[in-house]
Amino acid sequence: MSEFDAIVVGAGPAGSSAAIRMANKKLNVLLVERADPPGSKNVSGGILWGNALAEIIPEWEKDIPLERLITHKGTTFLTKDSSISIDFRSTKFLENHSGYSVLRARMDNALANSARKAGAMVVTGVTVDRVAKEEGKVVGVEQDGEIITSDAVILAEGANPRVAIDSGLRKPIGDQDVAIGVKQIIRLPENTINERFNLKGSEGFAGEYVLSYLEGEAEAGGFLYTNKDTISIGAVISSSKLREDGQTHSYDIMESFVQHPHIAPLLEGGKLEEYSAHLVCEGGIDSVPRIYGDGYLIAGDAAGFSFSNGLMIQGMNYAITSGIAAADTVIEAKERGNFSSDSLASYERKLEDSYVLKDLKNFRNIDKVTWSRVTHRAIPKIAENLLYSMYHETGRPKKHLMQMILESSRDSGMSKSQLILESYRMMRRM
Ligand SMILES: Cc1cc2nc3c(=O)[nH]c(=O)nc-3n(C[C@H](O)[C@H](O)[C@H](O)COP(=O)(O)OP(=O)(O)OC[C@H]3O[C@@H](n4cnc5c(N)ncnc54)[C@H](O)[C@@H]3O)c2cc1C
Repeated sequence: MSEFDAIVVGAGPAGSSAAIRMANKKLNVLLVERADPPGSKNVSGGILWGNALAEIIPEWEKDIPLERLITHKGTTFLTKDSSISIDFRSTKFLENHSGYSVLRARMDNALANSARKAGAMVVTGVTVDRVAKEEGKVVGVEQDGEIITSDAVILAEGANPRVAIDSGLRKPIGDQDVAIGVKQIIRLPENTINERFNLKGSEGFAGEYVLSYLEGEAEAGGFLYTNKDTISIGAVISSSKLREDGQTHSYDIMESFVQHPHIAPLLEGGKLEEYSAHLVCEGGIDSVPRIYGDGYLIAGDAAGFSFSNGLMIQGMNYAITSGIAAADTVIEAKERGNFSSDSLASYERKLEDSYVLKDLKNFRNIDKVTWSRVTHRAIPKIAENLLYSMYHETGRPKKHLMQMILESSRDSGMSKSQLILESYRMMRRM
Protein backbone atom coordinates (compact mmCIF):
# COMPACT_ATOMS: atom_id res chain seq x y z
CA MET A 1 0.00 0.00 0.00
CA SER A 2 1.31 3.47 -0.92
CA GLU A 3 2.16 6.11 1.70
CA PHE A 4 0.14 8.78 -0.17
CA ASP A 5 -2.74 8.83 -2.61
CA ALA A 6 -0.85 11.46 -4.59
CA ILE A 7 2.49 13.26 -4.56
CA VAL A 8 2.69 16.63 -6.30
CA VAL A 9 6.11 17.88 -7.37
CA GLY A 10 6.34 21.69 -7.34
CA ALA A 11 4.28 24.26 -5.41
CA GLY A 12 3.77 26.75 -8.25
CA PRO A 13 0.22 27.59 -9.35
CA ALA A 14 -0.22 24.18 -11.06
CA GLY A 15 1.04 22.05 -8.17
CA SER A 16 -0.64 23.94 -5.33
CA SER A 17 -3.96 24.05 -7.22
CA ALA A 18 -3.79 20.29 -7.74
CA ALA A 19 -2.93 19.71 -4.06
CA ILE A 20 -5.76 21.98 -2.83
CA ARG A 21 -8.34 20.23 -5.03
CA MET A 22 -7.27 16.72 -3.94
CA ALA A 23 -6.94 17.64 -0.25
CA ASN A 24 -10.42 19.22 -0.36
CA LYS A 25 -11.68 15.82 -1.52
CA LYS A 26 -9.93 14.17 1.47
CA LEU A 27 -7.14 12.52 -0.52
CA ASN A 28 -3.90 11.96 1.34
CA VAL A 29 -1.59 14.38 -0.52
CA LEU A 30 2.11 15.27 -0.30
CA LEU A 31 3.19 18.54 -1.98
CA VAL A 32 6.99 18.77 -2.39
CA GLU A 33 8.67 22.10 -3.20
CA ARG A 34 12.39 22.78 -3.58
CA ALA A 35 12.11 26.43 -2.49
CA ASP A 36 11.64 27.49 1.10
CA PRO A 37 9.30 29.32 1.33
CA PRO A 38 7.36 28.39 -1.83
CA GLY A 39 7.57 31.11 -4.46
CA SER A 40 11.04 32.28 -3.51
CA LYS A 41 12.52 30.66 -6.65
CA ASN A 42 9.69 31.68 -8.97
CA VAL A 43 9.53 34.45 -11.54
CA SER A 44 6.50 35.77 -13.36
CA GLY A 45 5.59 39.09 -14.93
CA GLY A 46 3.09 38.70 -13.46
CA ILE A 47 -0.53 39.25 -14.23
CA LEU A 48 -2.84 36.54 -13.02
CA TRP A 49 -5.48 36.47 -15.75
CA GLY A 50 -8.95 35.02 -15.40
CA ASN A 51 -10.89 33.46 -12.57
CA ALA A 52 -9.46 29.93 -12.52
CA LEU A 53 -8.69 30.00 -8.78
CA ALA A 54 -12.42 30.41 -7.96
CA GLU A 55 -12.84 26.67 -8.55
CA ILE A 56 -10.70 25.81 -5.55
CA ILE A 57 -10.70 29.01 -3.43
CA PRO A 58 -14.17 30.59 -3.72
CA GLU A 59 -13.05 33.85 -2.03
CA TRP A 60 -9.67 33.93 -3.79
CA GLU A 61 -9.75 37.69 -4.42
CA LYS A 62 -9.71 38.12 -0.62
CA ASP A 63 -7.59 35.12 0.37
CA ILE A 64 -4.69 35.47 -2.11
CA PRO A 65 -2.39 38.52 -1.96
CA LEU A 66 -3.13 40.59 -5.05
CA GLU A 67 -1.43 43.84 -6.00
CA ARG A 68 -3.65 45.81 -8.42
CA LEU A 69 -6.74 45.19 -10.53
CA ILE A 70 -5.79 45.73 -14.17
CA THR A 71 -7.98 48.45 -15.69
CA HIS A 72 -5.53 49.80 -18.23
CA LYS A 73 -3.84 47.69 -20.95
CA GLY A 74 -1.26 48.81 -23.45
CA THR A 75 0.50 47.30 -26.45
CA THR A 76 3.43 49.37 -27.62
CA PHE A 77 5.95 49.25 -30.44
CA LEU A 78 9.21 50.81 -29.36
CA THR A 79 11.56 51.98 -32.09
CA LYS A 80 14.84 53.75 -31.33
CA ASP A 81 13.13 57.15 -31.20
CA SER A 82 9.43 56.51 -30.95
CA SER A 83 6.76 54.78 -28.97
CA ILE A 84 3.53 53.78 -30.77
CA SER A 85 0.81 52.44 -28.48
CA ILE A 86 -2.62 50.95 -28.52
CA ASP A 87 -3.93 52.08 -25.19
CA PHE A 88 -7.01 50.45 -23.76
CA ARG A 89 -8.73 51.66 -20.59
CA SER A 90 -12.14 50.47 -19.62
CA THR A 91 -14.45 50.91 -16.66
CA LYS A 92 -15.79 47.48 -17.70
CA PHE A 93 -12.69 46.00 -16.04
CA LEU A 94 -13.91 47.43 -12.73
CA GLU A 95 -17.11 45.36 -12.98
CA ASN A 96 -15.68 42.28 -14.72
CA HIS A 97 -12.32 41.60 -13.18
CA SER A 98 -10.00 40.25 -15.82
CA GLY A 99 -6.54 40.31 -14.30
CA TYR A 100 -4.57 41.24 -11.20
CA SER A 101 -0.90 42.00 -10.84
CA VAL A 102 0.73 39.59 -8.37
CA LEU A 103 4.11 39.01 -6.77
CA ARG A 104 4.92 35.33 -6.90
CA ALA A 105 6.81 35.19 -3.61
CA ARG A 106 3.56 36.19 -1.89
CA MET A 107 1.06 34.43 -4.11
CA ASP A 108 2.79 31.04 -4.22
CA ASN A 109 3.31 31.02 -0.46
CA ALA A 110 -0.39 31.78 0.07
CA LEU A 111 -1.40 28.99 -2.35
CA ALA A 112 0.87 26.48 -0.61
CA ASN A 113 -0.63 27.55 2.74
CA SER A 114 -4.11 27.00 1.31
CA ALA A 115 -3.01 23.46 0.35
CA ARG A 116 -1.76 22.96 3.91
CA LYS A 117 -5.04 24.26 5.36
CA ALA A 118 -7.00 21.94 3.08
CA GLY A 119 -5.09 19.03 4.62
CA ALA A 120 -2.14 18.40 2.29
CA MET A 121 1.30 17.74 3.77
CA VAL A 122 3.59 20.45 2.35
CA VAL A 123 7.33 19.81 2.43
CA THR A 124 9.58 22.71 1.37
CA GLY A 125 13.32 22.94 0.69
CA VAL A 126 13.35 19.47 -0.89
CA THR A 127 14.25 18.85 -4.54
CA VAL A 128 12.82 15.68 -6.04
CA ASP A 129 15.45 13.85 -8.16
CA ARG A 130 13.22 11.60 -10.25
CA VAL A 131 10.10 9.51 -10.11
CA ALA A 132 10.34 5.99 -8.68
CA LYS A 133 9.20 3.24 -11.05
CA GLU A 134 8.26 -0.41 -10.67
CA GLU A 135 7.82 -2.49 -13.81
CA GLY A 136 7.50 0.73 -15.84
CA LYS A 137 4.78 2.18 -13.62
CA VAL A 138 5.40 5.33 -11.57
CA VAL A 139 5.00 4.44 -7.88
CA GLY A 140 6.30 7.56 -6.13
CA VAL A 141 9.26 9.93 -6.09
CA GLU A 142 12.93 9.61 -5.22
CA GLN A 143 15.08 12.10 -3.38
CA ASP A 144 18.64 11.43 -2.22
CA GLY A 145 18.12 7.68 -2.77
CA GLU A 146 14.99 7.60 -0.60
CA ILE A 147 11.68 6.61 -2.13
CA ILE A 148 8.30 7.97 -1.03
CA THR A 149 5.43 5.99 -2.51
CA SER A 150 2.09 7.14 -3.89
CA ASP A 151 -0.65 5.86 -6.19
CA ALA A 152 -0.21 8.85 -8.48
CA VAL A 153 2.45 11.52 -9.07
CA ILE A 154 1.57 14.91 -10.55
CA LEU A 155 4.63 16.61 -12.02
CA ALA A 156 4.16 20.39 -11.83
CA GLU A 157 7.81 21.42 -11.78
CA GLY A 158 7.68 24.32 -14.24
CA ALA A 159 9.36 25.27 -17.50
CA ASN A 160 12.57 23.31 -16.89
CA PRO A 161 11.09 19.91 -16.05
CA ARG A 162 14.21 18.01 -14.95
CA VAL A 163 12.30 15.29 -13.08
CA ALA A 164 10.16 14.43 -16.11
CA ILE A 165 13.18 14.55 -18.46
CA ASP A 166 15.54 12.59 -16.18
CA SER A 167 12.82 10.00 -15.58
CA GLY A 168 12.33 9.51 -19.33
CA LEU A 169 8.79 10.91 -19.27
CA ARG A 170 9.43 13.70 -21.76
CA LYS A 171 12.13 14.74 -24.20
CA PRO A 172 14.61 17.47 -23.25
CA ILE A 173 13.50 21.02 -23.97
CA GLY A 174 15.06 22.90 -26.91
CA ASP A 175 15.32 26.53 -28.06
CA GLN A 176 11.93 26.27 -29.75
CA ASP A 177 10.22 25.33 -26.46
CA VAL A 178 11.34 28.24 -24.28
CA ALA A 179 12.20 31.92 -24.29
CA ILE A 180 14.41 33.64 -21.75
CA GLY A 181 12.67 35.93 -19.26
CA VAL A 182 14.61 38.62 -17.39
CA LYS A 183 12.81 40.71 -14.80
CA GLN A 184 13.39 43.56 -12.38
CA ILE A 185 11.20 44.70 -9.51
CA ILE A 186 11.56 48.42 -8.92
CA ARG A 187 10.22 50.14 -5.81
CA LEU A 188 8.44 53.48 -6.15
CA PRO A 189 5.97 55.23 -3.84
CA GLU A 190 2.36 54.21 -4.49
CA ASN A 191 1.25 57.78 -5.30
CA THR A 192 4.14 58.18 -7.80
CA ILE A 193 2.98 55.05 -9.62
CA ASN A 194 -0.61 56.35 -9.65
CA GLU A 195 0.48 59.71 -11.04
CA ARG A 196 2.82 58.31 -13.69
CA PHE A 197 0.33 55.78 -15.01
CA ASN A 198 -2.80 57.88 -14.44
CA LEU A 199 -4.30 55.34 -12.03
CA LYS A 200 -6.67 55.71 -9.08
CA GLY A 201 -6.49 53.71 -5.83
CA SER A 202 -5.76 50.07 -6.59
CA GLU A 203 -6.24 50.28 -10.37
CA GLY A 204 -3.35 48.82 -12.34
CA PHE A 205 -1.63 49.06 -15.72
CA ALA A 206 -0.31 46.12 -17.73
CA GLY A 207 1.74 46.93 -20.82
CA GLU A 208 3.43 44.69 -23.37
CA TYR A 209 6.09 46.02 -25.73
CA VAL A 210 7.68 44.99 -29.01
CA LEU A 211 11.36 45.96 -28.75
CA SER A 212 11.73 46.73 -32.43
CA TYR A 213 14.76 48.98 -31.93
CA LEU A 214 16.98 45.91 -31.40
CA GLU A 215 19.68 45.40 -33.98
CA GLY A 216 20.94 42.13 -35.41
CA GLU A 217 18.93 38.93 -35.21
CA ALA A 218 17.84 39.13 -31.55
CA GLU A 219 14.12 39.68 -30.96
CA ALA A 220 12.42 40.44 -27.68
CA GLY A 221 9.17 41.53 -26.14
CA GLY A 222 8.94 43.61 -22.99
CA PHE A 223 6.42 43.95 -20.18
CA LEU A 224 5.73 46.55 -17.53
CA TYR A 225 3.16 45.89 -14.83
CA THR A 226 2.23 48.05 -11.86
CA ASN A 227 2.06 46.56 -8.37
CA LYS A 228 0.99 48.50 -5.25
CA ASP A 229 4.35 50.15 -4.61
CA THR A 230 6.61 48.40 -7.09
CA ILE A 231 6.85 47.97 -10.84
CA SER A 232 7.55 44.63 -12.49
CA ILE A 233 9.46 45.19 -15.70
CA GLY A 234 11.04 42.58 -17.90
CA ALA A 235 12.07 41.30 -21.29
CA VAL A 236 11.17 37.99 -22.91
CA ILE A 237 13.77 37.04 -25.48
CA SER A 238 13.45 34.43 -28.21
CA SER A 239 16.08 31.75 -27.44
CA SER A 240 16.47 30.67 -31.05
CA LYS A 241 16.87 34.26 -32.31
CA LEU A 242 19.38 34.99 -29.54
CA ARG A 243 21.40 31.97 -30.63
CA GLU A 244 21.19 33.05 -34.30
CA ASP A 245 22.43 36.49 -33.29
CA GLY A 246 25.29 35.01 -31.26
CA GLN A 247 26.48 38.37 -29.89
CA THR A 248 23.73 40.01 -27.89
CA HIS A 249 23.25 39.04 -24.23
CA SER A 250 19.84 38.84 -22.57
CA TYR A 251 20.93 41.27 -19.84
CA ASP A 252 21.95 43.84 -22.52
CA ILE A 253 18.46 43.66 -23.96
CA MET A 254 16.97 44.14 -20.48
CA GLU A 255 19.25 47.13 -19.90
CA SER A 256 18.34 48.69 -23.25
CA PHE A 257 14.65 48.35 -22.37
CA VAL A 258 14.82 50.02 -18.93
CA GLN A 259 17.02 52.79 -20.38
CA HIS A 260 14.87 53.43 -23.46
CA PRO A 261 13.95 57.15 -23.60
CA HIS A 262 10.23 56.33 -23.37
CA ILE A 263 10.59 53.84 -20.50
CA ALA A 264 13.28 55.35 -18.26
CA PRO A 265 11.11 58.31 -17.10
CA LEU A 266 8.47 55.84 -15.84
CA LEU A 267 11.08 54.24 -13.56
CA GLU A 268 12.95 57.38 -12.55
CA GLY A 269 13.88 57.52 -8.85
CA GLY A 270 12.93 53.87 -8.35
CA LYS A 271 15.01 51.44 -6.31
CA LEU A 272 15.96 48.11 -7.88
CA GLU A 273 14.77 45.46 -5.39
CA GLU A 274 14.98 42.23 -7.36
CA TYR A 275 16.72 41.00 -10.54
CA SER A 276 15.79 37.55 -11.75
CA ALA A 277 15.76 35.34 -14.82
CA HIS A 278 13.67 32.32 -15.70
CA LEU A 279 12.69 30.24 -18.71
CA VAL A 280 9.35 31.12 -20.28
CA CYS A 281 7.46 28.16 -21.68
CA GLU A 282 6.67 29.09 -25.31
CA GLY A 283 6.62 26.02 -27.51
CA GLY A 284 2.84 25.84 -27.95
CA ILE A 285 1.04 22.63 -28.83
CA ASP A 286 4.07 21.17 -30.64
CA SER A 287 6.06 21.07 -27.41
CA VAL A 288 3.36 19.34 -25.33
CA PRO A 289 4.65 15.88 -24.36
CA ARG A 290 2.58 12.82 -23.47
CA ILE A 291 0.87 14.23 -20.36
CA TYR A 292 -0.15 11.04 -18.58
CA GLY A 293 0.96 7.45 -18.21
CA ASP A 294 0.90 4.62 -15.67
CA GLY A 295 0.79 6.37 -12.30
CA TYR A 296 1.66 9.91 -13.42
CA LEU A 297 0.35 13.15 -14.93
CA ILE A 298 2.16 16.32 -16.03
CA ALA A 299 0.62 19.80 -15.49
CA GLY A 300 1.38 23.49 -16.02
CA ASP A 301 4.57 24.69 -17.69
CA ALA A 302 6.12 21.22 -17.29
CA ALA A 303 3.54 20.04 -19.84
CA GLY A 304 4.01 23.08 -22.10
CA PHE A 305 0.64 24.61 -21.13
CA SER A 306 1.26 28.28 -21.58
CA PHE A 307 0.00 30.89 -24.03
CA SER A 308 3.18 32.88 -24.43
CA ASN A 309 4.47 34.18 -27.68
CA GLY A 310 6.50 37.33 -27.20
CA LEU A 311 3.46 39.64 -27.26
CA MET A 312 1.34 37.98 -24.62
CA ILE A 313 2.31 35.94 -21.57
CA GLN A 314 -0.34 33.82 -19.94
CA GLY A 315 0.81 30.77 -18.03
CA MET A 316 -0.49 30.95 -14.48
CA ASN A 317 -4.15 30.51 -15.51
CA TYR A 318 -3.24 27.52 -17.73
CA ALA A 319 -1.20 26.09 -14.85
CA ILE A 320 -4.10 26.40 -12.38
CA THR A 321 -6.68 24.92 -14.76
CA SER A 322 -4.43 22.01 -15.75
CA GLY A 323 -3.47 21.38 -12.10
CA ILE A 324 -7.17 21.14 -11.18
CA ALA A 325 -7.86 18.84 -14.16
CA ALA A 326 -4.97 16.57 -13.12
CA ALA A 327 -6.31 16.50 -9.55
CA ASP A 328 -9.85 15.64 -10.71
CA THR A 329 -8.42 12.80 -12.79
CA VAL A 330 -6.59 11.39 -9.76
CA ILE A 331 -9.75 11.75 -7.61
CA GLU A 332 -11.74 9.72 -10.18
CA ALA A 333 -8.93 7.17 -10.48
CA LYS A 334 -9.00 6.66 -6.70
CA GLU A 335 -12.76 6.04 -6.82
CA ARG A 336 -12.07 3.35 -9.44
CA GLY A 337 -9.00 2.09 -7.60
CA ASN A 338 -7.16 2.21 -10.93
CA PHE A 339 -4.17 4.48 -11.62
CA SER A 340 -3.17 2.91 -14.93
CA SER A 341 -2.53 4.93 -18.05
CA ASP A 342 -6.01 4.01 -19.38
CA SER A 343 -7.62 5.24 -16.19
CA LEU A 344 -5.72 8.54 -16.25
CA ALA A 345 -6.42 9.17 -19.96
CA SER A 346 -9.46 11.30 -19.07
CA TYR A 347 -6.98 14.06 -18.08
CA GLU A 348 -6.32 14.80 -21.75
CA ARG A 349 -10.04 14.81 -22.53
CA LYS A 350 -10.67 17.29 -19.71
CA LEU A 351 -8.03 19.61 -21.11
CA GLU A 352 -9.37 19.20 -24.65
CA ASP A 353 -12.76 20.37 -23.38
CA SER A 354 -11.20 23.38 -21.62
CA TYR A 355 -9.44 26.46 -22.97
CA VAL A 356 -6.03 24.89 -22.25
CA LEU A 357 -5.71 22.58 -25.24
CA LYS A 358 -8.29 24.46 -27.35
CA ASP A 359 -6.16 27.64 -27.23
CA LEU A 360 -2.92 25.82 -27.93
CA LYS A 361 -4.47 24.02 -30.92
CA ASN A 362 -6.35 27.05 -32.31
CA PHE A 363 -3.25 29.26 -32.12
CA ARG A 364 -0.70 26.65 -33.19
CA ASN A 365 1.22 29.10 -35.40
CA ILE A 366 0.75 32.31 -33.44
CA ASP A 367 4.48 32.49 -32.64
CA LYS A 368 5.16 32.88 -36.36
CA VAL A 369 3.10 36.08 -36.18
CA THR A 370 4.35 37.48 -32.89
CA TRP A 371 8.03 36.63 -33.43
CA SER A 372 8.01 37.57 -37.14
CA ARG A 373 10.11 40.25 -38.86
CA VAL A 374 6.83 41.88 -39.89
CA THR A 375 5.74 42.39 -36.26
CA HIS A 376 9.17 43.21 -34.88
CA ARG A 377 10.60 45.33 -37.67
CA ALA A 378 8.29 46.24 -40.56
CA ILE A 379 5.05 47.27 -38.78
CA PRO A 380 6.78 49.48 -36.18
CA LYS A 381 8.92 51.17 -38.85
CA ILE A 382 5.96 51.81 -41.17
CA ALA A 383 3.81 53.07 -38.26
CA GLU A 384 6.59 55.37 -37.07
CA ASN A 385 7.16 56.80 -40.58
CA LEU A 386 3.46 57.26 -41.24
CA LEU A 387 2.60 58.87 -37.89
CA TYR A 388 5.63 61.12 -38.03
CA SER A 389 4.75 62.33 -41.52
CA MET A 390 1.13 62.91 -40.40
CA TYR A 391 2.01 64.83 -37.23
CA HIS A 392 5.14 66.68 -38.36
CA GLU A 393 4.19 70.04 -39.91
CA THR A 394 6.69 71.05 -42.57
CA GLY A 395 5.08 74.17 -44.03
CA ARG A 396 4.89 72.37 -47.41
CA PRO A 397 1.76 71.04 -49.20
CA LYS A 398 0.26 68.03 -47.41
CA LYS A 399 0.31 64.57 -49.04
CA HIS A 400 -2.58 62.17 -49.56
CA LEU A 401 -2.78 59.33 -47.03
CA MET A 402 -2.13 56.61 -49.67
CA GLN A 403 1.05 58.38 -50.79
CA MET A 404 2.20 58.64 -47.15
CA ILE A 405 1.51 54.94 -46.58
CA LEU A 406 3.50 53.97 -49.68
CA GLU A 407 6.39 56.20 -48.71
CA SER A 408 6.30 54.95 -45.13
CA SER A 409 6.82 51.34 -46.19
CA ARG A 410 9.97 52.17 -48.21
CA ASP A 411 12.52 51.60 -45.44
CA SER A 412 10.61 48.83 -43.66
CA GLY A 413 13.27 46.30 -44.64
CA MET A 414 10.76 44.36 -46.77
CA SER A 415 9.59 44.70 -50.36
CA LYS A 416 5.94 45.56 -51.07
CA SER A 417 5.18 42.03 -52.29
CA GLN A 418 6.90 40.48 -49.25
CA LEU A 419 4.82 42.71 -46.98
CA ILE A 420 1.54 41.81 -48.67
CA LEU A 421 2.34 38.09 -48.59
CA GLU A 422 3.51 38.11 -44.97
CA SER A 423 0.49 40.18 -43.86
CA TYR A 424 -1.84 37.68 -45.57
CA ARG A 425 -0.08 34.79 -43.80
CA MET A 426 -0.33 36.62 -40.47
CA MET A 427 -4.09 37.15 -40.83
CA ARG A 428 -4.56 33.43 -41.53
CA ARG A 429 -2.48 32.44 -38.49
CA MET A 430 -4.38 34.75 -36.13
C1 LIG B 1 9.53 36.63 -16.93
C2 LIG B 1 8.22 35.91 -16.91
C3 LIG B 1 7.03 36.60 -16.98
C4 LIG B 1 5.83 35.94 -16.94
N1 LIG B 1 4.67 36.66 -16.92
C5 LIG B 1 3.48 36.03 -16.78
C6 LIG B 1 2.29 36.77 -16.60
O1 LIG B 1 2.30 38.00 -16.53
N2 LIG B 1 1.11 36.08 -16.50
C7 LIG B 1 1.06 34.72 -16.53
O2 LIG B 1 -0.03 34.15 -16.42
N3 LIG B 1 2.19 33.99 -16.69
C8 LIG B 1 3.39 34.61 -16.78
N4 LIG B 1 4.54 33.88 -16.89
C9 LIG B 1 4.44 32.42 -17.00
C10 LIG B 1 4.12 31.81 -15.64
O3 LIG B 1 5.04 32.26 -14.69
C11 LIG B 1 4.16 30.30 -15.72
O4 LIG B 1 3.39 29.86 -16.81
C12 LIG B 1 3.62 29.66 -14.45
O5 LIG B 1 4.37 30.04 -13.34
C13 LIG B 1 3.61 28.14 -14.56
O6 LIG B 1 3.20 27.58 -13.34
P1 LIG B 1 3.69 26.14 -12.91
O7 LIG B 1 3.06 25.87 -11.59
O8 LIG B 1 3.47 25.18 -14.01
O9 LIG B 1 5.28 26.26 -12.77
P2 LIG B 1 6.15 27.21 -11.78
O10 LIG B 1 5.39 28.40 -11.41
O11 LIG B 1 7.46 27.36 -12.44
O12 LIG B 1 6.27 26.30 -10.51
C14 LIG B 1 7.06 25.14 -10.49
C15 LIG B 1 7.49 24.89 -9.06
O13 LIG B 1 8.16 23.64 -8.99
C16 LIG B 1 9.29 23.77 -8.15
N5 LIG B 1 10.22 22.71 -8.54
C17 LIG B 1 10.89 22.59 -9.72
N6 LIG B 1 11.60 21.46 -9.74
C18 LIG B 1 11.39 20.86 -8.55
C19 LIG B 1 11.86 19.63 -8.00
N7 LIG B 1 12.67 18.81 -8.69
N8 LIG B 1 11.46 19.31 -6.73
C20 LIG B 1 10.64 20.14 -6.02
N9 LIG B 1 10.15 21.30 -6.52
C21 LIG B 1 10.51 21.63 -7.78
C22 LIG B 1 9.78 25.19 -8.41
O14 LIG B 1 10.58 25.67 -7.37
C23 LIG B 1 8.45 25.93 -8.54
O15 LIG B 1 7.98 26.41 -7.31
C24 LIG B 1 5.78 34.52 -16.89
C25 LIG B 1 6.98 33.82 -16.82
C26 LIG B 1 8.19 34.49 -16.80
C27 LIG B 1 9.45 33.70 -16.66
